[in-house]
Amino acid sequence: MPRKLPALNADNRAFWQGGEQAELRIHRCTACSLFFHPPAPLCPHCASFKVLPTAVSGKGTVLSYTVNHQPWSPEIEVPYVVAIIELVEQQGLQFVSNVVGIPVTDVHIGLPVQVSFLNIEDVWLPLFEKAQ
Ligand code: ZN
Repeated sequence: MPRKLPALNADNRAFWQGGEQAELRIHRCTACSLFFHPPAPLCPHCASFKVLPTAVSGKGTVLSYTVNHQPWSPEIEVPYVVAIIELVEQQGLQFVSNVVGIPVTDVHIGLPVQVSFLNIEDVWLPLFEKAQ
């Protein structure tokens, strides 16, 4: 299932390659201790440069989602779910991903999910499955 892969840089490498060690790594500020995403050299909460990628639990919930039926790319099977996932570590800590491994009709707002990684070339895409 080929996808357009992100361009790696010093800030986002830990996020996209953490899956090699089965770790979802989110930037955390050591000055104010808050997480933030996407990764950046500067904390958006307190403007500190003391930020480090930090492994989180990989657990979250579906905050919102949509079911895509349009075959935008011939390699990606439809339908599939595009969801906003909020991680359990911090309210508002969220990013867009896919919910996989269950029928699209089983996805709902509030569904507990856990990360699972899809390795393509040098990137480990963090996808989400229904939590056990
Ligand atoms: Zn901060």
